[in-house]
Order: sequence, then C-alpha cells, then structure tokens
Amino acid sequence: MALQTSGIHHITAFARDPQQNVDFYAGVLGLRLVKKTINFDAPDVYHLYFGDEQGSPGTIITFFPWPDSRRGKIGGGQVGVTTYVVPPGSLSFWEKRLQSFGIENSASSRFGESYLAFTDNEGLRLELVEREEGPASTWSFGGVPEKHAIKGFGGAILYSVDSASTRHTLEHVLGLQPEGEEEGYARFRAPGELGNVIDVPVESVNWGDGGAGTVHHIAWRAKDYEQHEAWRGHVRQNGFQPTPVIDRQYFNAVYFREGGGILFEIATDPPGFAVDEASEELGSHLMLPDWYEPKRAQIEAGLMPIQVRELKEGEQ
Ligand code: ZN
Repeated sequence: MALQTSGIHHITAFARDPQQNVDFYAGVLGLRLVKKTINFDAPDVYHLYFGDEQGSPGTIITFFPWPDSRRGKIGGGQVGVTTYVVPPGSLSFWEKRLQSFGIENSASSRFGESYLAFTDNEGLRLELVEREEGPASTWSFGGVPEKHAIKGFGGAILYSVDSASTRHTLEHVLGLQPEGEEEGYARFRAPGELGNVIDVPVESVNWGDGGAGTVHHIAWRAKDYEQHEAWRGHVRQNGFQPTPVIDRQYFNAVYFREGGGILFEIATDPPGFAVDEASEELGSHLMLPDWYEPKRAQIEAGLMPIQVRELKEGEQ
C-alpha cells in the first residue's frame, strides 16, 4: 500500500530570547511548554517544545532560541506561514486577545475560510483559522479558556522556490490529496484531523534566509517505527537523499531537502513526551538525553533561566 502521512508532526523554528519565546507561545497563545531540553547538536542552546496538554503530534511547535543569532528573512525554501486551528466562534476572542497584548493582526480568507494573521515577537508568521475538526484542547492557561484554546496546527503555507516540484512531492511522495487552486494557492489535504491542510503558492517564491523568526523545518507524521523505515526507503526511491534514522528522544527522525528548498522531516508518533517526564510535569524540568547527563551542571550553567508565567495584558 502506498504511504500516506496523516499530516504535520511538528514545525521547528529559530528564535532569540528564550524567555520571550516562552512568554509568547505559553503566555499569549496559551500552549503548554511540554518539553524543556537542549539542541542535541548544540547543547548551549535550549530546545523548547510547545503543544497541547500531552504534546500530541500535529500540535507541536519547537524552537531553538539562540540569543546572539541574527534575524532571518521569510521566503522560498521555508514554511512561510504556520496555521493554528481554534474552535468555531473563537476568532473574535483571539482578535481581542492579540490586541490586548499589542499584537497587530489582520483578517484574510483562502478557500472560503477566514484567517487571522499575525506574527510572533521575532516576526514568525502565524495565523488562526476556525474548524470543527480536531479534538478540543484540554489545556487552559493564562486567560485562554478551553473553549477557545488552540487545538493544534490547522496546517501551513509552504513557500517553495520550485512550486511545481513541491506540489508534486506533496501529492506523490507524502500522499496528500490535491484540492484544486484558488487565488494563487494550491491546496492539499492529509487524512489526519490536525496539521492536515497545506497550501502552496502556485508561483515560486524567491529564496528566504534562515535565522530568528523563520522556520527551520517541517516534520510529517509516521505512525510507528516500522512505517518510518518504509518512509526512508520510499523517500530515497523518489530520488531524495534522506539522512539515516536519528534518535530525537521523543521521536525518530529522517530529514531530506525537497525540490522547492524546504527541509522536510519524517518523524514517528512514538514514543512522545512522557517518555522521560510524568505527564503532569511535562516541561517543568530541564531534560537531557543520557549522553549529556554527565555534563548537566555545565550545560545548566550556560543556559538562561526561564519560566512559564501568566502575563498581564500589554506585558508581552
Ligand atoms: Zn524536527
């Protein structure tokens, strides 16, 4: 049977100030910090994961906050916009909430849906859309009631330097269903309930430049380790050069650069974030993989302390 991803597993982006990053994604958006760890390839930098209460696949945005890094430029070869989904009837709540924190936002529409667009504190482009599908959030924080809380990703807009190539890969490699074109966007749908609607501008986009405020990569779901191995072979058979399987502690990963310049990852749903920390304590300790434990004191000394805190309006 042909492989088909059920949608986005996670999206990883660059930031600068780790406390401002926590304040935006937990304090303003009301997401849960589900894991506080380090960049396994650069242990002097945090790796922060925000998602729903359990950090379910399809809800997770992750950041490498690197205080001295330069600002990037959003453009081709990147996820241009990350879309979050909220319950029907919630956009007006969010419009008021963003305004109360001084965050500019604007309304737009695509494929008959209304979107509220804004950026995070680094300039990363985000938007909210109302949809029925997707399980309701069970997490409430900082004045976001459960009934209006973000459920997870609605999807993303991919900025490709070779739009035809990216669209071909979405359909013929990842198994997404094309849903036609409208006003310069092609829409694709995966069978999952979250992170399942992907839009691609039909015209190619000029190269962006990586750095704070840009997405580094987008990961797609593989349901288990066996399917993950099959995905690696499938990607290679389609002419891409996947990395070996890499253990990322909370999932296994394989990366490849697609033809439109965007770094794609295939990530396993298991084992998830409760593998090294109790569900009720997710995000509350600095978690290190075993191979870094002997250096814990040194690593902790090099990281800026951060805390999840409730914000007053206008504080962000
Ligand atoms: Zn990743």
